[in-house]
Amino acid sequence: MNSKIEDQRIEDRIGIMGGTFNPIHLGHLVVANEVQEEFKLKKVIFVPTGIPPHKEDRDIAKAEHRYTLVNLAIATNPNFAVSDIEIKREGKSFTLDTIKEFKKIYEGADIYFIAGTDAFIEVSTWKNIDELPSLCKFITVSRPGYSFQIEERFKPHTYLFEVTDLAISSTEIRRRIKEGRSIKYLVPQSVEEYIYKHGLYR
Ligand code: ATP
Ligand code: MG
Repeated sequence: MNSKIEDQRIEDRIGIMGGTFNPIHLGHLVVANEVQEEFKLKKVIFVPTGIPPHKEDRDIAKAEHRYTLVNLAIATNPNFAVSDIEIKREGKSFTLDTIKEFKKIYEGADIYFIAGTDAFIEVSTWKNIDELPSLCKFITVSRPGYSFQIEERFKPHTYLFEVTDLAISSTEIRRRIKEGRSIKYLVPQSVEEYIYKHGLYR
């Protein structure tokens, strides 16, 4: 099982990848892997949301299931880790608070916040967004179906990085499960098995 790494101190470059991970899929894993390699990150830490501020109205599996699914998906990659920092937090989580916590845990490390273009578009709606550039760097990755652009004011703090196009989304995976269709090869096998075992997304 992949360990939580909040207890360790790593003085280096750390990638943070937030998301609902409802469920985690190969799109997420390919992004994390390609960013980790390109930016020479010590770790990419997946941070599943507790109550997602932007997605309250959706069909979201319990945090413990989403967290376990991330754990299963990353189990074979020593460069990946998962954190329950947002799941354990009371109430809504904001990216700023999460980054601040990781800054404390990994004192001296450079924090890289990784987001797809669609997620980055929401950045301007985040709480105290103007504070973020002083705390971390952004890596915005391409995503099929979304224009690969960001607002001018974020450009000095943001890397735009093209990753392998995979038009996979959790929404599509949930839809397929509801329709009784296959999700094979869109998620790791361990993730697929856990979803069926626990009857998620039906
Ligand atoms: P949903 O359809 O439920 O919104 P999702 O597939 O978008 O799920 P999220 O958990 O919302 O997954 O995304 C977490 C992060 O991963 C976001 O920054 C998102 O932009 C990025 N991401 C997800 N899928 C891809 C993909 N196929 N290619 C590039 N980035 C992706
Ligand atoms: Mg999404």
